[in-house]
This record gives sequence, structure tokens and C-alpha cells, in this order.
Amino acid sequence: MRIIVVGGGVIGVTSAYWLRLAGHEVALIEQDVEAGRGVSAGNGGQLSYAYVEPLAGPDLWTKFPAILLGLDSAVRMRPDLSLDSIRWGLSFLRHCIGKRQTDSLKSLLVLAAESHRALAELLNDVPLQFDYAAAGKLILYRDAKALDEAGRLAEIKRQHGFRIETLGRARCLALEPALDRYRNGFAGGIYAPEDAAGDCGLFTRGLYDHLGRAMGVETHGSMRVTHLTMRDGRVVGVELDTDDMRADAVVLANGIDAPRLAATVGLKLPIEPVKGYSITAPARPDAPIVSLTDRAEKIVFAHLGHRLRAAAFADLDGWSPSVNPKRAQQLLALALHLFPAAADWDRAEPIWAGQRPMTPSGMPLIGASRVPGLYLNAGHGGLGWTLACGAGKRLAGIIA
Ligand SMILES: Cc1cc2nc3c(=O)[nH]c(=O)nc-3n(C[C@H](O)[C@H](O)[C@H](O)COP(=O)(O)OP(=O)(O)OC[C@H]3O[C@@H](n4cnc5c(N)ncnc54)[C@H](O)[C@@H]3O)c2cc1C
Repeated sequence: MRIIVVGGGVIGVTSAYWLRLAGHEVALIEQDVEAGRGVSAGNGGQLSYAYVEPLAGPDLWTKFPAILLGLDSAVRMRPDLSLDSIRWGLSFLRHCIGKRQTDSLKSLLVLAAESHRALAELLNDVPLQFDYAAAGKLILYRDAKALDEAGRLAEIKRQHGFRIETLGRARCLALEPALDRYRNGFAGGIYAPEDAAGDCGLFTRGLYDHLGRAMGVETHGSMRVTHLTMRDGRVVGVELDTDDMRADAVVLANGIDAPRLAATVGLKLPIEPVKGYSITAPARPDAPIVSLTDRAEKIVFAHLGHRLRAAAFADLDGWSPSVNPKRAQQLLALALHLFPAAADWDRAEPIWAGQRPMTPSGMPLIGASRVPGLYLNAGHGGLGWTLACGAGKRLAGIIA
């Protein structure tokens, strides 16, 4: 089949890779001059296979009043009040119920395990440099109660084949001595030794180049898909700014723009943008090696080559991609306050913001849509880097 993949983010390039391996003729279309400059560019860098908890969870109900009043510094809510956003919000709240969250978590764990294996296969085949390190991940919990609750979810993860250890404070410090200079208190942590980190933007650009150079994928940069083309009730291609292109099937892998394109053939996708920020600075010798997530402050740290990256915040503040200078300042202040010795924060790169393409359940949309000829690989929320390889391979299996 001839297949057009729309979007050169991490989801588009991994989709194109597995579709090409399956023998399809693939055209990959990216609107930017370069691949990997959307939300894949500056994300937290964590390949967080064993920690895929959806954003929608029971604890959100208790925090909801504080979020609405703007008192929760990690989450901001100023959505545009369109009917679609309201519908999305109500569905999100329904997914905060315990049983639904556990169901989503189990589905995400299955996809994460597939993704872990699929990335290893890909790296066996394609030599990519992206500051990859499989140094494990530690999630810190402020008090014993929160640590106990996380320990219960750890059992579900073990059932899915993940190695998980619950560590008290002393064992966390022995595992990651840099935590001695971490300024936030913690009672202990959940350690996932098989989790990893890497620069998602570097990976995406490297794979995009490889697809064009060595695998015979048609890669088209600086080309924007404006509409999907329908004939006799079937998607048969795409319209570009100045041209059109035909195919037997089209895959929407264009992140937060997927709902707009799907709407051109009457399909509604439940995806809303949730903005987050990251700061990247030269790592000091005292930087942590293990990836860290501080559950109380909702901030992550990942060591990427000679750099340390911190990422945080979940802002439902509409569709504009702009960096809010106040939030950028808050992130710098938070990183400096929590981990002053870990990086040269005063020599940081400009603060980056990206929009997570989020579904209410946290589960991405992967597979055939209800419109013949149109397939989806979109809505990976805060886990797209972790899930990309599994999602790309699963999609190719479904199309086969
Ligand atoms: C602060 C932050 C931290 C994060 N941390 C992590 C983490 O640690 N681990 C993790 O797993 N995930 C993390 N994520 C989530 C992850 O970054 C995303 O889920 C993932 O990058 C989504 O990839 P994508 O390919 O769908 O989107 P994108 O990277 O945005 O790619 C979509 C591409 O499509 C192109 N495009 C859009 N419309 C069109 C069009 N009409 N025509 C042609 N091209 C088009 C865009 O230019 C873009 O390049 C984080 C996100 C944020 C914001």
C-alpha cells in the first residue's frame, strides 16, 4: 500500500519506520523545515515504561477546588469554553474514578512494555545518537501514606512484568547520592531499574534522516497538510498548501493538530492541548544520574548527555503554543530552589514550552478510524516519547 503519514514528530517517524519495515511505500509529511520541533523537541526525556499513570486519577477530585482557584502551582486551568473542550473536560473527570484509572493504567502498561521491546529492536537496526541512558527512574513521595498507595499500584506493574522496588529514604540516597543535595523532603521512592532517558528531539530528527536516506521513505519537510481528501466515502489522500498527494491510506500522527485535520472529514477526536515547560542546563558533577520524578512538586529531572533537563506543569490554557513568561520564571525558580547544585541553571537554554496532545483517559488513539482509509496514531499526552515505538509498531500490525 502507499501510505501518507502526517506529522514528523516522534509518533510520525516511528509510525513511518514500522510501516516501511512492513513493506509499505511511505510518504512522511512535516510542516516544519525540520522534524522533531513540535512537542517532541523539549519534553522531559524520560522513557518511563513502568510509570504510565494517566493524568486523570482519583486524587484529582480532592485537588480540583484548589486547581479551579489557581492555588495548585503545577496545574493551571483556563480552557477556552468551547463545546468540545467542555465535553473533553467532563469525560476527563469521569476517567478520574478509581476503576477507570486502573483500567487505563493496565492498557498503558501493556503498550509501554511493547514500546520498551520495540525501541530495543529499532536501536539494533538503526544506530542513533540521542543521549540515551538506561539508568533507571526513581519516583519520590513526600510522605509514607503516598508511598504506601504507590506501592499498591506497583503490584499491578509487577503483574505486567515490570521490575519495581519500593525504597525508603536511606536506600533512595544510596541509589542516587545527588539526592543528598535535593531541597524537597521525601519519605522514599518507587524505583524502576529498567526505565531510561534520552533526547526525544535528537531521536526524532535522527530517525527522520535515516528513513529518507537509508529506507526509501519519501520525507517531505516544509509541507503543510490543510485537508484530507475524500472520494466515495473514503480518504484517498491529502491536500497541501499548493498541491495534493494521493495514497491508499493516511495516518494522522500530527499531535495537537490531529483533531483539526480529522474534522475536515467530519471526524471528532477527543484531544486537547495540555501545555508543559522544560528547562535544560549544563549538568554539574553533582547532577543525578537516575531519572527523577518528584510526585509532590510534579517535576521531573533527566540527565541527557552533558545536560540536565527539568520539566513540569500541566496547563489547560487553550490552543496558543506561546510561552507564558510567568510560568517560565516559575520553572526556573523551582529548578533552582529544588536542585541548585545539579546544573548551571544560570547558563540554561531558553525555556521551552510544548503542548501535550491529551485524551481524557490518557490512552492514545491507535488504529483505524471510522472513516475508511484514515488511521490514527495521536493523543499520547504526557507519554508520547515512552509509548512511541510500541504505538508505531502496533499501528503497522493493525494496518497489516
Ligand atoms: C513539558 C513536557 C514534558 C514531557 N515529558 C515527557 C517524558 O518525559 N516522557 C514522555 O514519554 N513524554 C513526555 N512528554 C510528552 C511527549 O512529548 C509527547 O507525547 C510526544 O512528543 C507527542 O509526539 P507527537 O509526534 O504526537 O507530537 P509532535 O512532536 O508535536 O509532532 C507532531 C508533528 O506534526 C507536525 N504537523 C502538525 N500538523 C501538521 C500538518 N497539518 N501538516 C504537516 N505536519 C504537521 C508538527 O509540526 C509536528 O512536528 C512531555 C510533554 C511535555 C509538554
